[in-house]
Amino acid sequence: MPKLKFGFYWAASCGGCEVAVLDINEKILDVAALADIVLWPVAVDAKYQDIEAMPDKSIDVVFFNGAVRNSEQHHLARLLRRKAKVLVAFGSCAHLGGIPSLANLYSKSELLETVYAGTVSTINPEGTQPTPKTETPVGALEIPEFFEAVYRLDQVVPVDYYLPGCPPTPAAILGAVTAIAQGTLPPPGSVIAPAKTVCDACERTKGNKKVKEFHRPHLFRPDPEKCLLEQGIVCCGPATRAGCDNRCLDANMPCRGCMGPTADVVDQGAKLAAAIATLVDSKDEVEIKRLVDEVMDPAGTFYRFGMAAGLFRGAVLPERKEAKQA
Ligand code: SF4
Repeated sequence: MPKLKFGFYWAASCGGCEVAVLDINEKILDVAALADIVLWPVAVDAKYQDIEAMPDKSIDVVFFNGAVRNSEQHHLARLLRRKAKVLVAFGSCAHLGGIPSLANLYSKSELLETVYAGTVSTINPEGTQPTPKTETPVGALEIPEFFEAVYRLDQVVPVDYYLPGCPPTPAAILGAVTAIAQGTLPPPGSVIAPAKTVCDACERTKGNKKVKEFHRPHLFRPDPEKCLLEQGIVCCGPATRAGCDNRCLDANMPCRGCMGPTADVVDQGAKLAAAIATLVDSKDEVEIKRLVDEVMDPAGTFYRFGMAAGLFRGAVLPERKEAKQA
């Protein structure tokens, strides 16, 4: 059988997805035996021109991690969509916008103002901000244009599969590669992960207990055998897809929601807020307000990995026309 061709690309993300590929350890040799890697900027010195010169549909699978925040990532998303037979949104940022999409709570100008003027460590008396093109004595300098908002990969181009997680587990990566090799991938459009929730997969004891206070995880040592939510720790398990191997729960830390919602959840953050609300053990308005105020950073907690996939994603900023021109 001829070797397959794989590509990996890294857009607006932290790089953890790239490390996750290396976390499959010696199994990377099996991947290398199965496929030639034609693009992997973190590890292979391929040039964009090399990819542009390839015939369309000549890369069997492109694993695209990261959200789309600027014009270079947008260009690569469209280019790789053309060159790939199968495009996989790899990790939370490509799948749902990820942590970068929490920036959608702010406008582009607010973000630039904060970063280039508003922090105590910034020294920028002229208030210089990056622009796509700058004329200099030695010629024009160009950098990618910073978009108004962060986009999921499937807001920019059609996506064939989603491999969720921040980052996907080594077992999930190997499972996807094995399915590709054996031709056993699920129907296009699938999220390659179990359909059940993290709660369904969690072995902690649950007793429908209500809570009188919420705790921040670093200030409270929960019982490792009991449901964290019922101990007043905000855990995203009720609205989050399983398939992460419960790594956070095994470390006595709450689920943070990185696998995204299950198929029957329209808005992961709203579902989580509803789950938390059912726990509140009070009918007194003042006490309820106190309890709600104990949930720190609700937007960052409930939409930590999926602001660009939530119902509010377009409410703050209009979607750019560039994101529609796939
Ligand atoms: Fe487990 Fe969290 Fe669900 Fe409780 S809320 S059962 S700790 S996943």
